[in-house]
Amino acid sequence: MGVRAGTPGGLEAMGLSPLVVWVDEGRCSGCHECLKVCRYSALNWVPGEQAVWPDPWQCNGCGSCQTVCPNDALRLENRSGVTAWSDAT
Ligand code: SF4
Ligand code: SF4
Repeated sequence: MGVRAGTPGGLEAMGLSPLVVWVDEGRCSGCHECLKVCRYSALNWVPGEQAVWPDPWQCNGCGSCQTVCPNDALRLENRSGVTAWSDAT
């Protein structure tokens, strides 16, 4: 099931926040500070990867991770504009 901007009932009706985290992999140093503050288990570290991996289905867009990132690698985006994952599901 894909998530679209025009989904009847909206994203909130599906239990999803309007904002979702996005990682700039080129900026992420792997310091893990963001993983420590995410209360929704929405950030993961996969051994061998160079950046954190966000789970858009778990992220509630609170922004806590963004405030602690020392490298400005995290941003909040409008969920409806993030199509790479929504169209693949
Ligand atoms: S806090 Fe920033 S630099 Fe550190 S792991 Fe998270 S995204 Fe990467
Ligand atoms: S925005 Fe909030 S819920 Fe989403 S990954 Fe960051 S800390 Fe976790």
